[in-house]
Amino acid sequence: MLRLPTQFTYHRPKTVAEAVKIAADHGPDSMYVAGGTDLYPNMKRRQQQPKHVISLVGIEELHARSGDAKSGITLGAMTTLSEIEHDAELNENYGAVTTAAESISTPLLRNMGTIGGNLLLDTRCNYYDQNYEWRESINFCMKCDGEICWVAPSSPRCWAVQSSDSVPIVTALGAEVTLVGPEGERRIVASDLYKDDGIDYTHKKPGEILTSVHLPAVNGWRASYRKLRRRDSFDFPVLGIGAALWFDGDTVTRADIRIGGAGSYAIEAAKTVEMITGQTLKKGDAATDELLRTAAQEAFKPTRAMDNTDHEASWRKKMAPIFVRRAIEDCLA
Ligand SMILES: Cc1cc2nc3c(=O)[nH]c(=O)nc-3n(C[C@H](O)[C@H](O)[C@H](O)COP(=O)(O)OP(=O)(O)OC[C@H]3O[C@@H](n4cnc5c(N)ncnc54)[C@H](O)[C@@H]3O)c2cc1C
Ligand code: SF4
Repeated sequence: MLRLPTQFTYHRPKTVAEAVKIAADHGPDSMYVAGGTDLYPNMKRRQQQPKHVISLVGIEELHARSGDAKSGITLGAMTTLSEIEHDAELNENYGAVTTAAESISTPLLRNMGTIGGNLLLDTRCNYYDQNYEWRESINFCMKCDGEICWVAPSSPRCWAVQSSDSVPIVTALGAEVTLVGPEGERRIVASDLYKDDGIDYTHKKPGEILTSVHLPAVNGWRASYRKLRRRDSFDFPVLGIGAALWFDGDTVTRADIRIGGAGSYAIEAAKTVEMITGQTLKKGDAATDELLRTAAQEAFKPTRAMDNTDHEASWRKKMAPIFVRRAIEDCLA
């Protein structure tokens, strides 16, 4: 059985300001914990070993929810995945977000896991998500305790994979997040939070808490989340496609499509977006079928599948255009 390290201090602040102060006092020795469904397994495997664990569970403001579909909905970072999954208003107006949330792990874990924790999920890799002894047997790797990347040994960087189900759809929708830290509060577009680096994978500054996520007002977009995984019961995505299309009648006026599970951040399917923007798309129409076939194929190139997750990399890369096309077609229904 894997056990947590025996020595760390557990803090339970009541306000964001108190939590930020504790983090500032202990610097890199501290980490926030929300549901703990990612951090505690990582601590058990000694991938992350904070000496001070700052729980966000007792901070009431992080559980708040406000707004509506007309003005946009703000969810506190401690909103659980189960709360999102079972929220009638979110299901009606932000179905792609609830689809992503309900595909995450299992009901028990969704009762604990939060949207904030999911947006900040550690990147994953077959050579990293192992216990200490396993990692020691290969002399560790660059992401933790070692020097080399076993996936791309000549690479100067880590290619661990962004495997959060919510990130591709939240970023495709153009949602925003609020962060509060020692330097104050800032609100940024969610896609600006992420970096193309398996180790240093966000632009979150030291000590910052992600306090809320702001879903945009419903204003003519239709969205979809499509997930590829080995088991439908529960598994991390090996591909997670978030697609949002804005329409004027049947004409696409704007689109954003993100490929998750295939790089250290949710990669933009930029060429696909360019090819469908300004086009009239109708379900069952031959010209639409032909356009979608060629446009979706453009998602093959940016999909950076490598041999560090489940399934063969070449097969995952071939599946990207298929899943991108399905996600776009969902938006036409
Ligand atoms: C068996 C299993 C299966 C899983 N399957 C999936 C899956 O299919 N898809 C998927 O996306 N995930 C999956 N997960 C990962 C995890 O359960 C979810 O990503 C969950 O949403 C994480 O949320 P949490 O609140 O538990 O995060 P925590 O573990 O509490 O935190 C995760 C990280 O975010 C930081 N953090 C958390 N909240 C904040 C905040 N508000 N401000 C600043 N930092 C913060 C923590 O310091 C930590 O680094 C799985 C996990 C397990 C154990
Ligand atoms: S991609 Fe390379 S450096 Fe990163 S976790 Fe995997 S083996 Fe380690």
